[in-house]
Amino acid sequence: MKYIFITGGVVSSLGKGLTAGSLGALLECRGLKVCTQKFDPYLNIDPGTMNPSQHGEVYVLDDGTETDLDLGHYERFTSSTLSKKNTFTSGQIYASVLHKERNGDYLGKTVQVIPHVTNEIKERIYAAGEDADVVITEIGGTTGDIEGLPFLEALRQIALERNHENVLFVHVTLIPFLKAAGELKTKPTQQSVAKLREIGILPDIIICRTEIPISDEMRQKISLFCNVPVKSVIEELDLKVSIYELPSLLHFEKLDDIVCEKLRIQTQPCNIQPWETIVEKIKFPKRECTVGLVAKYLDVKDAYKSVYEAIAHSGIQNDCKVNVEVIDAEELEQADEMDEFFSNIDGILLPGGFGNRGIEGKILAAKFAREHRIPYFGLCLGMQIAAIEFARHVLGYGDANSTEMVPETSNPVVRMMLNQRNIQKKGGTMRLGSYPCKLILGTKAYEAYRNAYVNERHRHRYEFNNDYRQQFEERGMIFSGINPDFDLVEILELKDHPWFLGVQFHPEFRSKPQRAHPLFADFIAAVLKEKV
Ligand code: GLN
Repeated sequence: MKYIFITGGVVSSLGKGLTAGSLGALLECRGLKVCTQKFDPYLNIDPGTMNPSQHGEVYVLDDGTETDLDLGHYERFTSSTLSKKNTFTSGQIYASVLHKERNGDYLGKTVQVIPHVTNEIKERIYAAGEDADVVITEIGGTTGDIEGLPFLEALRQIALERNHENVLFVHVTLIPFLKAAGELKTKPTQQSVAKLREIGILPDIIICRTEIPISDEMRQKISLFCNVPVKSVIEELDLKVSIYELPSLLHFEKLDDIVCEKLRIQTQPCNIQPWETIVEKIKFPKRECTVGLVAKYLDVKDAYKSVYEAIAHSGIQNDCKVNVEVIDAEELEQADEMDEFFSNIDGILLPGGFGNRGIEGKILAAKFAREHRIPYFGLCLGMQIAAIEFARHVLGYGDANSTEMVPETSNPVVRMMLNQRNIQKKGGTMRLGSYPCKLILGTKAYEAYRNAYVNERHRHRYEFNNDYRQQFEERGMIFSGINPDFDLVEILELKDHPWFLGVQFHPEFRSKPQRAHPLFADFIAAVLKEKV
């Protein structure tokens, strides 16, 4: 097994996850089987209880694991379907150590970070990718973080255990441009590499994030101070058009050649063509449209990361540039006039969310889409909102709501799922992961999937209340996707509307740049069709 360890230096948000995913993509282009894995040094067991405004989106895997959004990059850039074996936090590692201690597994010993915590980390790296050629392990955070130290120590031990063979250290760092001096600076990189060396890790490859190209002279300087050959100083320029340019950019810098040479892997030549085709399509779209994203987590763009990506994939598939205009749900709530918010909007998308804030604004957006025949796509909460809106304004139940928002509402068209009602603990207890959905022939959902059964990823506690199903149907709502085991509404759509569809799941988690999710692709196709 070959191991590639990716660490980050100087600042967070360097795009290590994108770099790890893109390296995975390049190795797959050379015919290798790749396994990607991430360790997050925070103490939460998983990010499931974290606010997306701080941490960004919570990404969900098929097996229901709630993870960091970098796992989303890994799944989008590589062909892998990931599971709980691909994501760990310090919280999980320590919980396991403490559980073993109480169990008496270490009887007689003093339990310590080295070796007990580091052993747990190593076990998880060794257990990854049984049938892969290469394991790419990313360590979250930045060198020098106190909480990241046990992970770096574990990597150092793995290199030692493997005789420094078949192990490669890639350090992603920032080369800041100082405007006042008019210069790029290498000192932060030198210092972050010094931090790695302090712990006994000598990076093999330095990937330099930079706003402007780095000169040969600068590459030589980084090479000298960081102790890597000049050709292993890789420039990673800020991407102009799309993140999907990254595999080609790193290939141009010969990253995959260097990696394969250092790990002594013989492969077929790299077939970068599929990525170049994608970039080509993004660069030269034939048409353009604008989707309004009615949102409430506004401080961090990453809060809706996979939704943005799935929209971009649908653009690629439809040969079109999709602009996303964020509409603040709370502002909508206050507005007297809806028209101004939607004057430039060709389609309305309501993403998932939790809690009461912004709900009334979202309901107004769904009403606007229904009445003005604007294509509408509701994801999870976005489906529940569509149901509430329909109950209020078509069925005439003015107080219809979800019991999440108003527990005592007299018309709970969305209510807590039965098996959720006795759950007290918050972490990892929602309806999570992949569940089957049966599609009804002749519906827009079926038309998109062209399949009678599909599996989609979930993350919710509330559901459509089946007591209202008949009344909805009588007034033109179609329940086009149903969970066959529990008769839960998974997809609803309006009969007399160009394209108005809500899904209880998160299709954005299964969309790929080469293969947009069918519902996203059809939503954008409908947006384009209605635009003319
Ligand atoms: N808050 C809603 C629920 O728990 C929707 C969740 C979501 O959008 N992911 O059912």
